[in-house]
Amino acid sequence: MLDTAHSFITKAGKTAGLSQEQIAKLLKLENEHVFDISHSNGKVYKAYRMQHSSKLGPYKGGIRFHPNVDLDEVKALATLMSFKTAAVGLPLGGGKGGISVNPKDLNHTELEELSRKYVQHLEKHIGPDKDIPAPDVNTNSTIIDWMVDEYSALTGDTSKASFTGKSIGKGGSLGRDAATGRGGVMALARLFELLNDTKPKTYAVQGFGNVGSFFATVAANDQPGWKLTAASDSSATVVSKDGLDASDLAKFKADGGSFKNYTKGEIESPDAVIEADVDVLVLAALEDSVHKDNVDSIQAKYIIEMANGPIDQHVYASLAKRKAIVLPDIIANAGGVVVSYLEWVQNKQGEEWTEKVVNDKLQTYMTKAVNELYATATAKNISLKEAAFVNAIKNLQS
Ligand code: NAD
Repeated sequence: MLDTAHSFITKAGKTAGLSQEQIAKLLKLENEHVFDISHSNGKVYKAYRMQHSSKLGPYKGGIRFHPNVDLDEVKALATLMSFKTAAVGLPLGGGKGGISVNPKDLNHTELEELSRKYVQHLEKHIGPDKDIPAPDVNTNSTIIDWMVDEYSALTGDTSKASFTGKSIGKGGSLGRDAATGRGGVMALARLFELLNDTKPKTYAVQGFGNVGSFFATVAANDQPGWKLTAASDSSATVVSKDGLDASDLAKFKADGGSFKNYTKGEIESPDAVIEADVDVLVLAALEDSVHKDNVDSIQAKYIIEMANGPIDQHVYASLAKRKAIVLPDIIANAGGVVVSYLEWVQNKQGEEWTEKVVNDKLQTYMTKAVNELYATATAKNISLKEAAFVNAIKNLQS
């Protein structure tokens, strides 16, 4: 993942006219915090907080609890966060943290102790104007609320602006849950406008979790011309040429269902979604979902990267040859960090905005980011993927 991030940045850096030295500087992290957390259950957990760039503002990025968390992964994710915040024009930098742990092995009390100890180790290096962490894989508003509470107890800070992704009522923002999916719909709709391609579309969603399900339910509401005809989870792909009901699918998943048991459509293999006969393929599951063995089976003209790095870096050339248009992750899934930023602003200003105010501001950020993306790609005759990094570099160098 770190190699992939570096290769995109290096390529875009060259296109932007940067020297080797300037590119090397862009790849370097400002601070690396690696530490052990000794838990009262007798175990010791390896923990990380990587701070890549504070050029544009405080570091921003999630905290992941997962057994596979390691130094290279958090470094790559921290680096990509700096490029994401820069590409969408936020006054924030990039960071990422994590603990190498399977949270399912811990009970509620043990998890709280681990979360609070993580903050105790990092107290001097984070804070509303230094580094503002958020939830990521296997972390949620409950964990973030414990962390905010610990940070407040240690420092006396009462602003709640030390972390984002808090629960509503404890400083969280309305609209955060849906923000990544909603931002993706806004970005894709804007791209269609810029390409003068606003005719009705069919689309398929790989991964009907938080991001994929909100993408589909927001699209059902806001984009009457888009029809969802395939949706997958790790168990199956559900297909219906007549269209699937996004809200019903989302409710089915929220109730703990697996698509292999869904009864309102044809059931196919989980991988069938990749080759669905649709206009748009929404990738909202895992990294490297599209690779050399399945890239040629894709029929969609448009692909939107809602997951981080869902396409193996080696197959972009093959997609470009087929004239497939890829809306890149650092723009497509930036809705989450945009609304995290809006949460931080509300906390700093002591305000609580309505969901409509939050969504309108999100729309402004996403539209502007896609306008700039398209302008750079057109002017330099490069892919949208490369243009996203070129735009981020422009902001990071300014
Ligand atoms: P999630 O765990 O809620 O959902 C992931 C979904 O993918 C699940 O429904 C799972 O069943 C499905 N899945 C797993 N393997 C699959 C497979 N082989 N085929 C089809 N589906 C499969 O996670 P999420 O929060 O929706 O995140 C999805 C992706 O988006 C991740 O890459 C994440 O890093 C990225 N992302 C999330 C956010 C956010 O705000 N949640 C923001 C930016 C990026």
